[in-house]
Amino acid sequence: MHQKLPKELDPFRLAQNGLKLEGQIPLADLPRLTQSLLSDQGMVDVKMAFDIDEVGTPYMKGEFSVSVSLTCQRCMSAMALDLNVDCLLALVKSERKVEGLAEQYEPWLLESNDPVLTSTVIEDELILSLPLVPKHDIACLPDNIWTAGDDNIITEDEKPVSPFAVLSSLKTKK
Ligand SMILES: [Zn+2]
Repeated sequence: MHQKLPKELDPFRLAQNGLKLEGQIPLADLPRLTQSLLSDQGMVDVKMAFDIDEVGTPYMKGEFSVSVSLTCQRCMSAMALDLNVDCLLALVKSERKVEGLAEQYEPWLLESNDPVLTSTVIEDELILSLPLVPKHDIACLPDNIWTAGDDNIITEDEKPVSPFAVLSSLKTKK
């Protein structure tokens, strides 16, 4: 189950040959994703099936899953989230072809025949699946928030500021 994926793919050739890939990629190889996460520890489970549909469109059906750690924007503490991406991407060589795609597809624009980095498409899809405002499913803030202690420490200033973040930072100022 710990197969390594190839670093690079030739998607059109894979589709022509109807090949499947399965393996894992470390989160640490996906820096654009991990900059939004609290940790880059973990492995993404990856399944990719390439083929050509009945009208001749080459496509990739992908399943990517990983458990990530994010900052809850309500209580500002860590939360675990399982990302499970199912995608169906049509391989297109130019923007012009995007319009004619059957509607079940998202376009995967590949403007040359050069191999592409395997990590790029996985990273893009996982980033798209991140919640805009991650929050615990449960009511994670206690009712006594206005008198709660000062154990919420804000470490990242660049994050978009939510009203709760402002509240939290006010609480930590004496
Ligand atoms: Zn929370």
